[in-house]
Amino acid sequence: MDVSHLLDGLNDAQRQAVGAPLGAALILAGAGSGKTRVLTHRVAWLIEVEGASPSSILAVTFTNKAAAEMRSRIETLLAMPSGAMWIGTFHGLAHRLLRLHWREAGLPQNFQILDSEDQTRLLRKVLKAMDLDEARWVPREVLWFINNQKDEGRRPGSLKDEGDPTRRELIRIYTTYEDACRRGGVVDFAELLLRAYEVWRDHPELLEHYRQRFRHVLVDEFQDTNSIQYRWLTLLAGRDGIPFVVGDDDQSIYRWRGARVENLQQFRRDYPGAVLYKLEQNYRSTGTILKAANALIAHNGGRLGKTLWTSGGDGERIKLYAAFNERDEADFVVNRIKEWVERGGARREVAVLYRSNAQSRVFEEAFLNSRTPYRVYGGLRFFERAEIKDALAYLRLVASRADDSSFERVVNLPARGIGAKTLDTVRDAARAGSTSLWAAAQAAIAGGTLPQRAAQALGAFLDLVERLAREVAGLELHEQVDHVIQGSGLIPHFEKERGDKGEGRVENLLELVSAARGFSPEGESEMSPLDSFLAHAVLESGEGQADPYEDCVQMMTLHSAKGLEFPVVFLAGMEDGLFPHQRSIGDLASLEEERRLCYVGTTRAMRQLYITYAEQRRLYGVDQYGMPSRFIAELPPEVIEEVRPRLKVSRPVFTPRPRAGAGGGRVDGGESAAPGMRMGSRVRHAKFGDGVVLNFEGNGPQARVQVNFERQGTKWLMLSYANLQVV
Ligand code: ATP
Ligand code: MG
Repeated sequence: MDVSHLLDGLNDAQRQAVGAPLGAALILAGAGSGKTRVLTHRVAWLIEVEGASPSSILAVTFTNKAAAEMRSRIETLLAMPSGAMWIGTFHGLAHRLLRLHWREAGLPQNFQILDSEDQTRLLRKVLKAMDLDEARWVPREVLWFINNQKDEGRRPGSLKDEGDPTRRELIRIYTTYEDACRRGGVVDFAELLLRAYEVWRDHPELLEHYRQRFRHVLVDEFQDTNSIQYRWLTLLAGRDGIPFVVGDDDQSIYRWRGARVENLQQFRRDYPGAVLYKLEQNYRSTGTILKAANALIAHNGGRLGKTLWTSGGDGERIKLYAAFNERDEADFVVNRIKEWVERGGARREVAVLYRSNAQSRVFEEAFLNSRTPYRVYGGLRFFERAEIKDALAYLRLVASRADDSSFERVVNLPARGIGAKTLDTVRDAARAGSTSLWAAAQAAIAGGTLPQRAAQALGAFLDLVERLAREVAGLELHEQVDHVIQGSGLIPHFEKERGDKGEGRVENLLELVSAARGFSPEGESEMSPLDSFLAHAVLESGEGQADPYEDCVQMMTLHSAKGLEFPVVFLAGMEDGLFPHQRSIGDLASLEEERRLCYVGTTRAMRQLYITYAEQRRLYGVDQYGMPSRFIAELPPEVIEEVRPRLKVSRPVFTPRPRAGAGGGRVDGGESAAPGMRMGSRVRHAKFGDGVVLNFEGNGPQARVQVNFERQGTKWLMLSYANLQVV
């Protein structure tokens, strides 16, 4: 058999991994060393050489974009469609499983998925019903608790309060929230994973079926699996399955969402026979970019340790630009992109990466002004826009009347005279009877518990949804969507909203019909087209936003850039407090995670990397004066070329970083600091209160100290005046 096409374009180490014997394997390798390439070739190898059936393949990765890419690469290699394989994200595959086995999973057949906004809304309702104050039970924090429990595989019944009244209350909220989800027939993202795990755990015959089927379990970006994902995978693989996992500990960037980089080690314990493959040759970036990335990540402790090298040339130095403010920064980026395009480059080869979504707005404005086509991944996605969610809520009710969050969203939108009091009555009845809002509304109308006008208005809404549901039965998906939007009254409602905004919303609604027209459910279709479209809207947000085929600049957060590569990369907003993020600065583990994120960003660049920061920035409506990110100072000076004339630039402050475990950092300039004060020390200021020392600068009477105050944020103070006390 000629397998050369499967091995061509691979180096020796990669070939070994692709042709590994049939048994557990772990590929541990740095960025751009061909991990994803090895994984796709392995799939083709299993089918062509080992004779595995396509339906025995389950391959999972983290983003929809990566999954789509993986699918298409496999199809190219095999020169056949990959329909029989399960290739997708964890959430996507879990969802698919639950659709097939909703009964065993204890879900209604038409269960709906809650995205994080829906989830927050539902939780707030729960808090209200429990008479709990949101100021004390901050929804974001409560959700963090709930999601975290789910990520760890814990149901409320298995939790102990440990004598802690706060925890007791959180468990009570979790219980009530779970009830509300069950009643509404909805599942949140974390629930998808947990349910998918439980359905196998609790149904041995089902598990056995899937174990027989999916002999080959392949995982990319394994370092970012959380506890429940790990358990799901290893439950499926069992003792006899053949897991092939691929990861890089230096690129673990989802700790805050429960990812456990320890899973790499755990895997070796659980599969002691697993063969370890390491890849260190990088094919993506220039020598200079790799040198920067290696130096940066060397500042982290506890690494499994690997150094990337390339046989290619050094390429150009990294360009560092100190912008006056965020607009100057955006202009700089726009102009460099123009030059790139003038020299024959494509826009899609350029990525602008930033730490938080809000940073995209200024770039979007600059791109619009200069007529540079761009595309934002994440951020305000099409499916997250308010009017789209309104239309989807109607569609979801058409699909499932028990969907309480959709009911809440549109019961009085457009306004049809259903007041807060009526709704309260319905909510109370739903709570008392443990039913959905829909059922409670029906009962309230039938039972005459509402004033006549209210009953009429509510009845009209119920009738409308019932009528729409009847009318769309049997229509094509896009006709269904069109009909429901037209029938919902949303279009005239938004037309009343003046100006561009209302117009844009109507355009978006119409665009939803095109989205439905262009939608084709993936793989075997276990559900109705409408259900799969609604699931797609929640799971795959980001799609349908701009024409993906247009040549446009790619904008995204650093998190969503994982696994991707671009000839030209801009790392924008490299200021302390922004990146590394303010939240992470006082905590070594979080700071190291930020550094890994910076490593991920750096290693996305193939040929040219730009780093920009702004001396002054207006973000979230306030002006901030930033210091260059400490990560800039961690790069070897010889790889950097400053673009702005030195005179105007305030040089990044080069400070030694506290070594992990060495009891904090050494103070630059030694004796100038107050005795006992070092980076990471807790200090007290008479006016600003308590904080943590982040940085020192200068010597003697000029010495300054940067402190992150708990209540006042980060400040630079003159050490000799500040009168800081170490506490
Ligand atoms: P990341 O850690 O960022 O996910 P990765 O390890 O998955 O990276 P790939 O994306 O698979 O790396 O490969 C990086 C680039 O190097 C790709 O453009 C890939 O096509 C190319 N590449 C990988 N191996 C080889 C090789 N042996 N010869 C030539 N190019 C290669
Ligand atoms: Mg990869």
